This record gives sequence, structure tokens and C-alpha cells, in this order.
Amino acid sequence: MSGNQAREQAIAYITNREPKQSKMPESLSKIWAKDVFNLAAMEEALSKNAFKAMKNTVQTGAPLDPATADVVAAAMKDWAMSKGVKFFSHIFYPMTNITAEKHDGFIITNSDGNAITEFTGSLLIKGEPDGSSFPNGSLRMTNAARGYTAWDPTSPAYVMHTDNGSTLMIPSVFMSWTGEALDKKIPLLRSNAAMNKSATKVLSLMGEVEIAPLNSSCGAEQEYFLVDENFANSRPDLLLAGRTLFGAPPAKGQQFDDHYFGAIPARVQVFMQDFEDKLYHLGIPAKTHHNEVAPGQFEIAPYFEAANVAADHQQLLMTLMKSTAKQHGFLCLLHEKPFAGVNGSGKHVNWSVGNATQGNLLDPGSTPHDNLNFLLFCGAVIRGVHLYGPLLRAVIASAANDHRLGANEAPPAILSVYLGEQLESVFNDIKAGKLLEKAKGGLMDLGLSQILKFERDPGDRNRTSPFAFTGNRFEFRAVGSSQSVSGPLVAMNTMLADSLDWIAEKLEVALANNDKTTAVILVLKELMELHGNVVFGGDGYSSEWHSKAVEERGLKNIPTAAEALPYFKDKAIVSLFERTGVLSPKELLSRFEVYAEQYILSIEVEAKLVKDIATTRIYPAAIKYISEISATNASLTSAGIGLNKESLEKLVALTNTMMTAVSELSTAIDEHGFDSVEAHMTFCAKTICPLMLEVRAAVDSLEGIVTDEYWPLPKYQEMLFIK
Ligand code: ADP
Ligand code: MG
Repeated sequence: MSGNQAREQAIAYITNREPKQSKMPESLSKIWAKDVFNLAAMEEALSKNAFKAMKNTVQTGAPLDPATADVVAAAMKDWAMSKGVKFFSHIFYPMTNITAEKHDGFIITNSDGNAITEFTGSLLIKGEPDGSSFPNGSLRMTNAARGYTAWDPTSPAYVMHTDNGSTLMIPSVFMSWTGEALDKKIPLLRSNAAMNKSATKVLSLMGEVEIAPLNSSCGAEQEYFLVDENFANSRPDLLLAGRTLFGAPPAKGQQFDDHYFGAIPARVQVFMQDFEDKLYHLGIPAKTHHNEVAPGQFEIAPYFEAANVAADHQQLLMTLMKSTAKQHGFLCLLHEKPFAGVNGSGKHVNWSVGNATQGNLLDPGSTPHDNLNFLLFCGAVIRGVHLYGPLLRAVIASAANDHRLGANEAPPAILSVYLGEQLESVFNDIKAGKLLEKAKGGLMDLGLSQILKFERDPGDRNRTSPFAFTGNRFEFRAVGSSQSVSGPLVAMNTMLADSLDWIAEKLEVALANNDKTTAVILVLKELMELHGNVVFGGDGYSSEWHSKAVEERGLKNIPTAAEALPYFKDKAIVSLFERTGVLSPKELLSRFEVYAEQYILSIEVEAKLVKDIATTRIYPAAIKYISEISATNASLTSAGIGLNKESLEKLVALTNTMMTAVSELSTAIDEHGFDSVEAHMTFCAKTICPLMLEVRAAVDSLEGIVTDEYWPLPKYQEMLFIK
């Protein structure tokens, strides 16, 4: 079948298909967390004492004694088996952005050959997948390849129903036999503990007597594209790389701004409802959905949850989104830039920290006292972003996210903090010593409550900032749509812990000679003098900012992942992680190695695809059209009619340009023997990527000349507009 026949069939199929009917919606109370072994389910299934112990573990992370673990395991098994489940799996989160699972049956046989079931506390607590099959960087020692998973009781177990059966899923950490973290969950839990410790120090200095454990919260907004699978199946680039490596921009793109918040296409609405019902069964609080800026692009945002649970839910959400889309005849694209020339997809990570006694510490609050706590925590974030901006850039570095971060659609590759006009002026007044004067005058309120209350109006937001205060939380906007939220959360919690330690040290000294308000303002004044440069309220896309940020403010512009990832080896960052106990130098190094390898691999896969598609699909189509035009020209000439020499020459020239670039790319792909991983990454960024773009430029021009009839790939206008 020619490329075009496939496209025509796809269009006919899509336009004639019977729309999948939405199911009769079930009430929320009927489906909410129905498949989750949460505290409510445990209360029903466990004895009073066992439940009390379990609740304490869930809420404080305190270890569970083995006897209670046995009781919980048996109850969990009975609960799951009542839903028809026969298998269980520890689910874990290796260093890649995926999730991994290994299924085991509850079954054992007794001496009579009868099948009975068993699930002990030790099976619940510990599993042993093969550690060597997952990327683990330098932690991969052949003789200690074994890794094991351990139950994380703070994230609830659940039953996952798929077309292929139902399984009890147990959220777990994944570590090497020698105790090193091989996953994304361990550092997240450790970073939370570090933040808790440092925050508690600051709060006690502030005179708080009752301080409940602090936790970080996360609400992630997920952007994605949907493409009909009939088109996707004729695009090897979409199937294998998750993005289009070729494609001329359509005549109508997103310039009309008519998609954002527009009516959701019926077929997509049915998909969303189906998908969200599945999320509700699993206790994931899907809250907002809407069209996004680009045609074919959408967003879903669950309500925020404790960071550890939110991170697990975010992984589950991505998995479910893809599988549910498939059931609705869509390919769901989580890639950061599936289509050139139209907006890419990000994942805004909304983050705050708080506890049961002081509440959300990034919420200005209504009393002067609350506001002092708020200003300290806010200041800690400012210092963190200033000192560890490159770390924030490194944790979101990937080949795919590079396509967004440099372009004027996504927050730039320079990490700055947006505070909003009023809060920025409060911090500027602190820096200039104006608030100190007021504080010394004995004014307890400082007029902050009025200012900060006003500040909470989220209407005026700077969408160009990578890191913005949005009323009661910070929003990290540069995160990529396909990425796990764990990396960003670990970075934010850890930098906060470090800043709070610094603040505690300064505050202790300041409190010795000053009243509390003056002491806080003094510490924040010093903080702003050292780190205020990172606060920026202007247009992050402008070229003035790009040069000013670097030249005047001393901030770093890190446009590619190849430049960002080596920051994992930066002395200050290694020391930050070691000091806070979040990652040992060895664990951190292994992350650099894994991410660098992923970066190189994904660019190499794309380069090979570019070469293959250009050679086996585009070139034959171009040649076919060239010979057709040549033949037509020949007969027109012999009939004495003028011919279209110009377009033939252009066609031939473009085809030659394309194949020359393909052969250069091919040579580049075969290049090996690099001195270092860094050199290899640079080669990918500076040589392979530009060559891929050269091939693409020729192909995209050919797309505008070669007759539609011969063009082998579904076009942007078809994929983006036909649903
Ligand atoms: P917008 O698109 O305007 O930025 P959304 O309502 O789509 O906002 O998403 C905001 C996200 O922030 C939601 O996931 C929401 O639950 C989350 N969020 C709200 N308050 C907090 C908070 N204190 N901490 C963390 N996340 C929060
Ligand atoms: Mg947002």
C-alpha cells in the first residue's frame, strides 16, 4: 500500500467511525478509591491494635513491627482476593522515567497437591527482582547485581485491573544489596526527611512548641497530545521516538488561539471521562481538564497530595493515560515536543511544604506571626533557587525537554524566581533595609498582612517564569511532560533543607540580640543581599533578559541537557546531597551516568530513524515524482509546449541536499571512541542534532512540492486536526 493510500484509508476510517459511547457515569462516592487498600479499607479489615500501628506508620513513617506486618499482609491478601486477584507485585520506580513491576502469585501447594494461598509480612515487605536488568550506573557491580524492593507503607497498595487481569500493586522502594538507592522513591523520601529536620529547627527557633512532622505536597499539571492511531501507525517516528522527526507546519496552526479552553472534541471528552473514572477507582483526585494551546493538545491536573503519594500517582496516571487512549483509538503522546512549530508539553509541578500544626508554610497566613514564618520559608526557596539553579536545570534535563526549554513557548533555561509584584517589593524593601526601620520602630505588623493577602490573587501570573510563586505554593514550570515529578521534588526539598539550615544558623545568632521580628528581617536582609539576584519579574523570553541574567546577575543559561547533566558532578551539588543525607556521592554519580546514557541513546535512536525514514520513504517518493515530472516535461517539450523546469530543478536539488545530509548523519552515527560521556553528549548536541535538522529542512521543503498523492507520511494538518 502506498503511503498515501494508508493516509486516505485512515481518514476514511476516522471520519466514518461510530463514536465510542460514553458509559453511564457512576457516582463519585461509588467508585472513589474502590480499588485502594487505604486507611478506610484497613480500618475495616484490621484489628483495632493493628490498625492503630498501621495508621501511625502511614502518617509518620514509623517502622512497623513484623507481627503487625503479618497481620496487614493477610488482610491485604483477603481484600485483594475478594476482588478476584491472584497475583501481587511490588511496583517500583527505577532511575528512568518508567515504572517496573514483578508479579508473583499468592499460590503455594501443600503436600496433598492442593492449591492454597499465602502472603506473609516478609513477602509484603520485601521482594527480589533482578537488580542488573535496570539502569543503575556505576552501582552496577557484576557480583552485587542483586537488588531488592521494599514496601513503602506510606503510599497505599491498590488493585490494578487491566484487560489481562487484576494484580495487587504494592508501592515500593528499590535498592541494591548494599543499600544504595536504585530508584526515584528513596531520594524523595530522604529529601522529605531532610526538609522536615531543617524546617523543625527553624520553627522551634521561631518559638513554635508543637511541631507536627512536615511534608511536601505536589500537584502536577500534565499536558499531552492525542493523535488518532491510524495516523500514528503510519509514522514510525511517532511510534518509536514519540515525536515527529519530519513534518511541515500546517497552513493553520495555533496562531488563532482558538483551541485553549475551547470546546473539548466529543471523542476526547469520552476518553477523558473513561480515564478519570479509572483514576477515581484508584484514589487519584483528577480535578481539572481542558484543551491546551496547540490543536490536539490537552491537560489534566489532579488535586495536590503528599509528594510521595503524588509522585506514585503521577506515574500511574501516565501509564493509565496511554493505555486508556489506546482503547479509544488514540496514541497519547507525552513527549515534550511532538510537533515542531506548535507548542510542546510540560508538566507544572506545584509544590509546597507544611504540617498539621503550622499549616502550609508557603501560605502568607493572616497573622503577623504566620507571615514571619512564611517570609522565612519563601526566602529559603529564593536562596535555594539561586544557589542550586543548575541542579533544578539538571533534574529536568532530557533530549526531549531541550526542544522546549530554549524556545519561546516554555520557561527558559535560566532559573529565576518570580514572586509577583507585591511580594517582590516586600523582599526588595527587606533588602533595602526599609522593613528593618519599621521593625525597629516596634511595629509588629509591618503592614505585611494586607500586602500578602492581596498577593494571593492568582490573576496576574508571569507565564514566562520557570519558577513562580502562585499564592500559596511555588510552581516549577520547566518540568517536561514525560518526566517523573520525583527528580524536581527531590531537588526542591533538598535545596529547601539546605537553606533552612543556613537560616537556622543565622537566626540563632540574630535572636540573641534582637526581638523576633527584627531578627527575621535581619536574616532575610542578608539572604536577599546574597541571593536576591535570582528574583525576576519581567519577561523571561526576552533576549535582554537572556544577556542581563548572565552578564549582570551572574545566573547560568544552560540550554541543553548535555550542558546541564554534568552539574550532577558539581562539587557544590555533590556536597549538598551528601550533607543532607539525600544521596551519597556514589548514588549521585550513578544518576549522572544513567541520565547521560539515556540522553545519548534517545538522540541516537532518533538519528537512525531520520536516516531510515529519509532513505526508505522520502527518497523513493521524491524520485517517483521526479521521474513523473521529467516524463511529463519530455512529452510537453516534444509537443512544443513550455515546461516547468524550475520546479523539477528545485525538486532534484532538495533531494540531493537531503541525501547528502543523510550520508553525513550516517557517518556521525557510526562515530565512536569518545574520551568521556560528556564528549559523547556534546557530540550528540552539537553534531548529530544539527544534522538531523538539516535532513528535516530538506524533507519539509519536499513535502510542500511532492504531490500529495505520493507523500508517504500523514501530515501535521491531518494528525492535529482530525479527531
Ligand atoms: P493553573 O493551570 O492555573 O496553574 P491548575 O488549577 O490547573 O492551575 O493546577 C494547579 C495545581 O496546583 C493543582 O494540581 C492544585 O491541586 C495544585 N495546588 C494547589 N494548592 C497547592 C499547594 N498548596 N501545594 C501544592 N499544590 C497545590
Ligand atoms: Mg499551572
